[in-house]
Amino acid sequence: MIAKKMQNMVANSSAIRAMFEEGNRLAKIYGAENVFDFSLGNPNVPAPQAVKDAIIEILNEEDPVALHGYTNSNAGYEDVRETVAQSLNSRFKTSFSGENIVMTVGAAGGLNVALKILLNPGDEVIVFAPYFGEYRSYTANFDGVLVAISPDTETFQPKLDEFAEKITEKTKAVIVNTPNNPTGVVYSEDTIKKLAKIMEDKQKEFGTDIYLISDEPYRELAYDGVEVPYLTKYYANTIVGYSFSKSLSLPGERIGYLVIPDEASDSADLISAASVATRILGFVNAPTLQQKMVVKCLDEKTDISYYDRNRETLYNGLLECGFTCIKPEGAFYLFVKSPIEDEKAFCQAAKKYNILIVPGSSFGCPGYVRMAYCVSYETIVNSLPKFKELAKEYF
Ligand code: PLP
Repeated sequence: MIAKKMQNMVANSSAIRAMFEEGNRLAKIYGAENVFDFSLGNPNVPAPQAVKDAIIEILNEEDPVALHGYTNSNAGYEDVRETVAQSLNSRFKTSFSGENIVMTVGAAGGLNVALKILLNPGDEVIVFAPYFGEYRSYTANFDGVLVAISPDTETFQPKLDEFAEKITEKTKAVIVNTPNNPTGVVYSEDTIKKLAKIMEDKQKEFGTDIYLISDEPYRELAYDGVEVPYLTKYYANTIVGYSFSKSLSLPGERIGYLVIPDEASDSADLISAASVATRILGFVNAPTLQQKMVVKCLDEKTDISYYDRNRETLYNGLLECGFTCIKPEGAFYLFVKSPIEDEKAFCQAAKKYNILIVPGSSFGCPGYVRMAYCVSYETIVNSLPKFKELAKEYF
C-alpha cells in the first residue's frame, strides 16, 4: 500500500489530473480545435530560435564526455553560476557572485531544495491565497505546516494585517509569487516594503530567522511596462527561486536556479546545504545541456505580445459576457469570479461547452476559477461564443 502521506497528495492532485484526462477525452470526440482547454500553464509560444541554436552549438562544440557527465559541484557549472550572477547584477543592481547561485530542476526543484534546507518538522510556511496548489505538497514533503492568509478578493494583493497576526515563532518561511499564478497580480513596491517591514519586526520580536522565498517563474511575463521588484533588495533573508520554464517556454526541460544572497542569515551554510539537497532529493544536478544553453540565452525573451493579445481578448470578451475578473498585470492566467458560489459546479457547467477551467479551491480560493490563456489565439477567439452561451445560464 502506498504511504499515507502520499495517499493525501494523490487525492489532492486528482482535480487537475482529471481535467487533463477530460481534455484528451473531449478532443478525441469533438476534435482538438473544438475543445477550449484553459486548464494548464503550458506555454504555447515556441522557445526562441536562440535556444535551438545554442543547443546545436553546444552539442557540436563541447566534449561529449564532459557535457553529459555529472557536474563537479551539484550546484552547477561554476561559469554558468557566475554568468547568471553577473546578469542579475546588471539587471537589478545587486552584487551576487556565482557562489550565490544554485542551478535547479525548474522552480519546483528549487522550491523543494529551499524547503528541504529550511524546514524542521512542524515549522510553518506562510502563503497568500490564492496560491500555487503545489506549495501544499512541497511543504508537506518536509513535514512543514502550510498556513494560508485569506485572499483579498478586491485587489488580490496580500492581506498584510492578517499576515502580521499569523506569523509565529514557528514561522520559518513565507512564499510569495509575483507575477502571480493564478491571479496575474504583481505585488507593488509599496506592498513589498510593508511585507518586509512586518517580517523584520517579527524576526526581532521572536529572535528567529524568517526566510522570504520569492517564487518567480513569471518574472519576465509582465505587461504594460509594470515593474516587478527584485526582493533581495528589500529583505535580507530572501531566497529567490527562478525558472526558465515560462520565460523561455521550456517547462519540460526542467531548468532554473536559486539565489541565496550573502546577506541571508547563515548564507554559506544554506548554499552548501542546497548542494547536498539537490543530490539527496534525487535530482543530483540540474541538466547539464540545459545549464549551458540557458547561460547563452539569458538576454532572450519570449514573445510577450502573443500572451498580451490573448490577455486583452479573453479579458474583454469575458467582461462583455458579464463575468467579473481582475485584469492581470503579469503571468498568463485570468482568475474569474464564479457566477455561483460553488465554483466546481460552474466548472462542470463550462464542460458542457467543451470549456475546461480549474476551480479556485485548487488554489485555496473557492468561488473563483482559473483560466490559463497560454493557448492559441484561435482557441481564445473560438471560445468566446461558447462563453457567451455559458454566461446566459447565469446573467
Ligand atoms: N511556481 C509557480 C507559481 C508555478 O506556476 C509553477 C508552474 O506552473 C511552478 C512554480 C513550477 O515551475 P517549474 O516548471 O519551473 O518547475
